[in-house]
Amino acid sequence: MPTLVMKFGGTSVATLDRIRRAAKRVGREVANGYDVIVIVSAMAGKTNELVEWVSETSPLFDAREYDAVVSSGENVTAGLMALTLQEMGIPARSWQGWQVPVLTTSAHGAARIVDIPRKNIEEKFAEGMKVAVVAGFQGISPEGRITTLGRGGSDTTAVAFAAAFGAERCDIYTDVDGVYTTDPRICEKARKLDRISFEEMLELASLGAKVLQTRSVELAMRYKVKLRVLSSFEDNDESAGTLVCDEEGIVESRTVSGVAYSRDEAKMTLVSVADRPGIAAAIFGPLADAGVNVDMIVQNVSDHGRTDMTFSCPVDQVARAEHALGEARERGEIGYEELLADTHVAKVSVVGIGMRSHAGVAAQMFKALADEGINIQVITTSEIKISVLIDRKYMELAVQALHDAFELEKVA
Ligand code: ADP
Ligand code: ASP
Ligand code: MG
Repeated sequence: MPTLVMKFGGTSVATLDRIRRAAKRVGREVANGYDVIVIVSAMAGKTNELVEWVSETSPLFDAREYDAVVSSGENVTAGLMALTLQEMGIPARSWQGWQVPVLTTSAHGAARIVDIPRKNIEEKFAEGMKVAVVAGFQGISPEGRITTLGRGGSDTTAVAFAAAFGAERCDIYTDVDGVYTTDPRICEKARKLDRISFEEMLELASLGAKVLQTRSVELAMRYKVKLRVLSSFEDNDESAGTLVCDEEGIVESRTVSGVAYSRDEAKMTLVSVADRPGIAAAIFGPLADAGVNVDMIVQNVSDHGRTDMTFSCPVDQVARAEHALGEARERGEIGYEELLADTHVAKVSVVGIGMRSHAGVAAQMFKALADEGINIQVITTSEIKISVLIDRKYMELAVQALHDAFELEKVA
């Protein structure tokens, strides 16, 4: 039997009624002759609530217990989805990550899938089960503890299952009808793309477009999974949604193809550190050990052998960063006058494979922001993207201004 992977995100399983609607879609694919692997997220808002409970209980929490708590939302929806399918007369059962098993690394909170043995699920398909409902976002470490794959990780579960089972397609059902030039919720001119290249999707995702988790795009690219994003609220035909595919499959060619943003950034500055060889290692080593994901880094001009070091990280990691740097200072590894944390910044980025062969994109971007009076605090670039850190209150304006400046509402 051909296999299909269907993933339903949080809003698509937010109520029993929505679970029923999703189950009907699954039923249609079973009727079309597929063995279906359904990957479910937790009900909308559930994971956030669990994360808040953990942080309130223990601000510098033990990541293993964090995973034990935050993975639980998916267990509920997996069981409910299996029950709903059974009520419709479709042979189905649920699987938690460890039961499959979804084998992962032991990097709690950001684990990577290492292997998904097919045996257990295949045996059930052979016995006549039509749908395996798998709790997304979770797995089991070599130490036998429950792990999670990072926020948005059910997308990665879905693509990993599609790769492991050689699925014909991996359909990601969500609350928008595809991938847009930017988040349609903050820019009404955003345009849906019929296709987007793996590389551009990878950049957009890693720069904050949460429609797909970055790692899911990496896996789809590596294992050549046919990945489609589509709405769970609309009727879809064969060509619905957005297909994420190789560059060759793209007809549109333009310099900038999308705008992404990441709202919850923080900018931290170590004031007056010694400008000596090894200082960056002495600062960023302890941050890495503490699990702080440092993104942008700027070292200021040195004055009398002292300099300021600025970096950005997710806003929910500020306490962790302060703690790690404070300890490094106490151990005498680094010295600084002050540690400033600005928790009101956001990152806005433009992405496009066309940037490789076009100069002037940065200048055009900076001008568009300047015209709106938006001050740029930090800049980073790579081959196919440019990112800036700005005051969060201008984030939406910046996204809209850049969408206009690069005329993304028009088909190229
Ligand atoms: P799910 O719960 O189904 O996984 P997510 O909230 O994780 O859904 O992802 C879908 C959301 O991603 C959309 O509601 C939209 O606000 C956001 N988004 C951000 N950037 C984009 C984009 N470029 N195209 C489509 N959606 C985007
Ligand atoms: N429920 C998890 C989250 O909210 C995983 C997911 O939905 O993809 O991050
Ligand atoms: Mg998601």
